[in-house]
Amino acid sequence: VKTVNVIGAGLAGSEAAWQLAEAGVPVNLYEMRPVKSTPAHHTANFAELVCSNSLRGNGLTNAVGVLKEEMRRLNSVVITSADETAVPAGGALAVDRDNFSELITKRVKEHPLVTVIAEEITKIPEGITIVSTGPLTSEALATDIAEYNGSHGFYFYDAAAPILDGSTIDREKVYLKSRYDKGEAAYLNCPMTEEEFMRFYNALIEAEVAPQKEFEKEKFFEGCMPIEVMAKRGVKTMLFGPMKPVGLEDPKTGKRPYAVIQLRQDNAAASMYNIVGFQTHLKWGEQKRVFQLIPGLENAEFLRYGVMHRNSFMNSPELLRPTYQSKKRDDLFFAGQMTGVEGYVESAGSGLVAGLNAARLAKGEALIEFPRETAIGSMAYYITHAEGKHFQPMNANFGLFPALPERIKDKKLRYETLAERALNALAEMSL
Ligand code: FAD
Repeated sequence: VKTVNVIGAGLAGSEAAWQLAEAGVPVNLYEMRPVKSTPAHHTANFAELVCSNSLRGNGLTNAVGVLKEEMRRLNSVVITSADETAVPAGGALAVDRDNFSELITKRVKEHPLVTVIAEEITKIPEGITIVSTGPLTSEALATDIAEYNGSHGFYFYDAAAPILDGSTIDREKVYLKSRYDKGEAAYLNCPMTEEEFMRFYNALIEAEVAPQKEFEKEKFFEGCMPIEVMAKRGVKTMLFGPMKPVGLEDPKTGKRPYAVIQLRQDNAAASMYNIVGFQTHLKWGEQKRVFQLIPGLENAEFLRYGVMHRNSFMNSPELLRPTYQSKKRDDLFFAGQMTGVEGYVESAGSGLVAGLNAARLAKGEALIEFPRETAIGSMAYYITHAEGKHFQPMNANFGLFPALPERIKDKKLRYETLAERALNALAEMSL
């Protein structure tokens, strides 16, 4: 059996190396820490949690809880180690961060098929390889990845607008239209009167922003501006930017509203919508409070809040297959946050898929795609099928799952049904 290279022993790389070794495939695991660190890591441990010690929801009425359960059933080193080092956190799975990373480091390092090499890799190697160097990939390798990816590159920060559950938008208040009726009517438009605009504007400029890390500040404004920063430039600035009403006359009245906020469909199934131009750094609670002032969004559920932080991720819809293989090279896999999955568990989950598939490739077996009904499969599908032009990282959420044959109104029951379907689909797979 061929040896597989795994680059980076973070959340994704540790999981990938573990899956490979457990499948009987030898692994060379390259990790640059402690020789060289990143601006966010503090230890030499594998799978270090750079910020919160929470792996978020653990129950099956939460998509990331379903993802965890799927991973548990697939012998995930990250989730079983989290279970063993858990600290009380209500419905969430939070861990003692040191115990957690130390346990993963020990398990992976002591596996007889894993060889750990403390080295910074600067070029994508030959041979079966998983690159999982994370959102803070070292500069030399980041440059090489960007070159390999060509025009679809490797972005260096994400600036994501909130994403809403399409079924929770009040369709009585919004209308479907494209600016100047160009092309197919593609946007849901939320119209505002001057009064509504002023109320929204005042709430926005006074809302509290999330704290930033020192190293994130440098690149912050190069790409796109957070909506709250734009608002602070003057009352009218947004009216000439993302809230511009021209060409968006309300078909019900024939009149142009004072301001319009557009919602763009975010997935093919139209179950998710993002707020156009509303990348934001507001605290999550503030996003909910302020954006629910928008007509039509009073009861909108947020599937993902807006975030802005330094990140490196690829345009996966153009570059990857649902097996996490590069479209250009069968024996090259990418995994973790750099593929556009967002979060600790999501990163580990993608590492699990890449690890299983690299093992299959090494053993000459057919590769596997997880069903879309599973949380693991829904993420792989999203990052490889989302619209490339507006691609932004995504965390696990029920909006990524295919819709149920009939919509269940009760949210808890709906989520439980989706979870049950996911676990059944996983059980039916021949792995
Ligand atoms: P990482 O866990 O970062 O692993 C990558 C590994 O590759 C690292 O060990 C690194 O040292 C190594 N490496 C890098 N370059 C090289 C190289 N050239 N050669 C060899 N090794 C290399 N997610 C959450 O769910 N909750 C949070 O609270 C949270 N906070 C975050 C805060 C910050 C500042 C950032 C940047 C991200 C945060 N994330 C958070 C997002 C994400 O979940 C984490 O970044 C997660 O660690 C990603 O896992 P990964 O395996 O892709 O990368």
